[in-house]
Amino acid sequence: MLCTLSEILRDANERHYAVGAFNCLSLENVMGALEAAEDLRSPIILQVAEVQFPEAPLELMAPLFLRAAKLSSVPVCVHLDHGQSIETCMKAIRLGFTSVMFDGAALPFDENVDNTRLVTRMAKAAGVDVEAELGRVGDSGVDTADVFTDVEESVRFIEATGVDALAIAIGNLHGHYVHTPQLNIQRLIEIHEANRLPLVLHGGSGTSVEDFKACIHNGICKINVATAIQRGIMKAIRERMQTEPEVGYIPLKQVMIDASRDVVAEHIRLFESNSRV
Ligand SMILES: [Zn+2]
Repeated sequence: MLCTLSEILRDANERHYAVGAFNCLSLENVMGALEAAEDLRSPIILQVAEVQFPEAPLELMAPLFLRAAKLSSVPVCVHLDHGQSIETCMKAIRLGFTSVMFDGAALPFDENVDNTRLVTRMAKAAGVDVEAELGRVGDSGVDTADVFTDVEESVRFIEATGVDALAIAIGNLHGHYVHTPQLNIQRLIEIHEANRLPLVLHGGSGTSVEDFKACIHNGICKINVATAIQRGIMKAIRERMQTEPEVGYIPLKQVMIDASRDVVAEHIRLFESNSRV
């Protein structure tokens, strides 16, 4: 069933687990992800980021995500990941997304507040939820991981914008990395205690199990997973091509569905969102 972000995150926030938000770029991705969620009775968030639009256009992904969500027996949120402009967020809202992220983290604080507030006002009028980001989530290529979200700023930001969920920077990195990042769990605890709003962790591919557990037990309710799915699918394709170089397109499609399902299932268990619905 199609749900909003806050509907899905409310229970996660109360019962200290996290819902995986999986970046899906194909039909195979979506089919595998929903199979895992239904098998494990877990809520799930399907998302696509604006930088992925060249490979997965918003106009085409929207009807696929929405139809899959409506047909599903578990709660599914259809979410825009890293919307880079107010216009993109508007477009996703018009297409029926139940949640949008406006990413103003690179902007000065006041500008991030102003733009996020505008998105929130428009989204709320359409019954859509909003995620925003404060502080810089590092890039695995560059070392920018020392810019943690400020506790006092997070309080002012949430009050001024009315967002439903906030992505924070606690040493997490986008992409996959050579060294496992060390997360600042103390900062997470402080932000959570000051706000009680569902918090979001970006860069969920490669964090240690210990850090994941510390995150979900201390206020992280949504964890973004993108790179791990792509790596899992490529690994499965390579293995199949090695054992069966002449494998056909249809069996290969099934390999992609199965690999998506396995990676998503693994994360659902890790985030403890299984057996919740
Ligand atoms: Zn992100």
